[in-house]
Amino acid sequence: MTSLKLHWQILIAMAIGIVIGGLFQYSGTDLSESNTYAFITALGTIFVRLLKMIIVPLIFTSIITGVSGIGDGAKLGRLGVKTLLYYITTSLFAIVIGLTLTNLIQPGIGVNLPTADSFDASKLNTPGSPAEILIRMIPLNPISAAAKGDMLGLIFFAIFLGAAITQLKGEHKSQLTSFFDSLFQAIMRMTEIIIKLAPIGVLGLITKTVATSGFEMFAAVGIYMLTIATGLSIHILVVLPLIFFLLTRVNPIIHFKAMASAMATAFSTSSSSATLPVTMRCVRENAGVSNETSSFVLPMGATVNMDGTALYECAGVIFISQVLGVDLTMTQQFTIVITALLASIGAAGIPSAGLVMIFIVTQAVGFDDADVAIIIGTMLAVDRPLDMFRTMVNITSDSIGAAVIAHSEGEKLYNS
Ligand code: ASP
Repeated sequence: MTSLKLHWQILIAMAIGIVIGGLFQYSGTDLSESNTYAFITALGTIFVRLLKMIIVPLIFTSIITGVSGIGDGAKLGRLGVKTLLYYITTSLFAIVIGLTLTNLIQPGIGVNLPTADSFDASKLNTPGSPAEILIRMIPLNPISAAAKGDMLGLIFFAIFLGAAITQLKGEHKSQLTSFFDSLFQAIMRMTEIIIKLAPIGVLGLITKTVATSGFEMFAAVGIYMLTIATGLSIHILVVLPLIFFLLTRVNPIIHFKAMASAMATAFSTSSSSATLPVTMRCVRENAGVSNETSSFVLPMGATVNMDGTALYECAGVIFISQVLGVDLTMTQQFTIVITALLASIGAAGIPSAGLVMIFIVTQAVGFDDADVAIIIGTMLAVDRPLDMFRTMVNITSDSIGAAVIAHSEGEKLYNS
């Protein structure tokens, strides 16, 4: 099996995970009693812990190396503008798809939600306002931002430090640049070793997902799930490939093949941050994007650019409004578009973060928290499959952004 390409290994592991998880689910095994189950799921947990362990050092060193490697301020500014433009445009496309589909299909009309007492959504932790997302980007203390996994804060500090290093003179500049570069190489080496374990980890993760998901909830909100899945499919199969092709003239299938391992990892972990090491490796080694560009675009993308989440925020809130029987005005719909964009930027790259951020959007259009909490409770119960899918869309968009921007900077991609 080890001679197979990594993405095939991961896909086979997924298939085995589905079978094993299904066996646990249907044999009625008491999961808390089964040692086999505990062992298999521990493999998934260990894999995710390894990935998480490497995220903060990876983001920190890669951004500093990326930014200080770019060197001159003009190029840094140009890359920054291109990156932000790409993030915002693709997220807005995704939001418009979500908006259109939910208005057309109306998945929330006539939904009778099962009582969702067991899901207490009020415990979910949400930022107070859209402005807070922007304020939070500046960490009070960079060490504590790193310790708490506050990625936006960490990214802000790393970009700032990287930019400051480029302005130093003589030995200070060269010493720091080569120190961070060497550290980055070492972290990437660790990353490669961890990624080799992906198939085993994915086996554990998928087994757990399949074994623990109950199916009753899915029936009540089936159309809602289908609407989101359709929107995500349109975005990943039509919009993103089109953008990619128009800007690079390369067949998108080549890019998807290059990203297969990252997409499979995103799907299994539901976490853009945890997938970042794999995304970086695929973008650098399979797509051939330079270290400078990938180190600049990807770590930020994993936290800031979430097309799938943006689509989900918008569609999710319109679904909620339909369940509540509220007709949205044009102004409210516009507010939803803007706050959905901000919420996707503010959402952490971790499982279900997008669902938590929905509160921000519902508050912006003035829904009553108590009513919303019950609906979100149900949405939480069925969130996992949607989360897997939207995370895959999120990192695919990041990777396409890296390729498109690298191409625009004249880099040769895909061994061409
Ligand atoms: N899990 C997603 C991610 O990491 C965020 C979300 O919940 O939408 O990209």
